[in-house]
Amino acid sequence: MMDAVRARIRDVPDFPQKGIVFKDITPALSDPAIFREVIDAFIARWKGERIHKIVGIESRGFLFAAPLAYALGAGLTVARKPGKLPWQTIREVYALEYGENALELHVDAVGPGERVLVVDDVLATGGTADAVGRLVARQGAELVSFSFLVELSFLHGARRLGPERVHSLITY
Ligand code: 5GP
Repeated sequence: MMDAVRARIRDVPDFPQKGIVFKDITPALSDPAIFREVIDAFIARWKGERIHKIVGIESRGFLFAAPLAYALGAGLTVARKPGKLPWQTIREVYALEYGENALELHVDAVGPGERVLVVDDVLATGGTADAVGRLVARQGAELVSFSFLVELSFLHGARRLGPERVHSLITY
């Protein structure tokens, strides 16, 4: 299981900067059988769990969050980079290796009593997903778990997020 998917994830050295080996997931999306296998694996993990909303993280998280929300009958919402969401937002800042970044959520995207799943393509250090987890918590919703296509375990993102609430289909 997932070996064919793993075979379609490409290592790109020195992207986006020297010394980083970037996992390029686009070949896994462009092959119809592989894309279906990925989405079906996400669905198999979360089907039957009580999930009201799925939060996709900009931008590759959207690619998995949308079909998963559709299949589960959950609502779909998006965590976006600053200035992209049109209405009232809350913002969480997180540190990068050099500098910082931020993500925003509409104030009515999730709320009390809602069980929320956060979805992204890759878990690296966990800073991005952790910021989204804080956004969800600030709105009083319940974070069920974080779900990723790929986890780069040597960067210890799961430790940062809490391993019991991290799910990934493929681990390196
Ligand atoms: P983190 O905050 O966990 O260090 O980085 C995760 C975020 O950066 C995710 O939104 C993910 O899309 C992006 N990212 C980091 N490394 C990679 C990578 O090797 N491949 C891809 N596709 N995304 C990455």
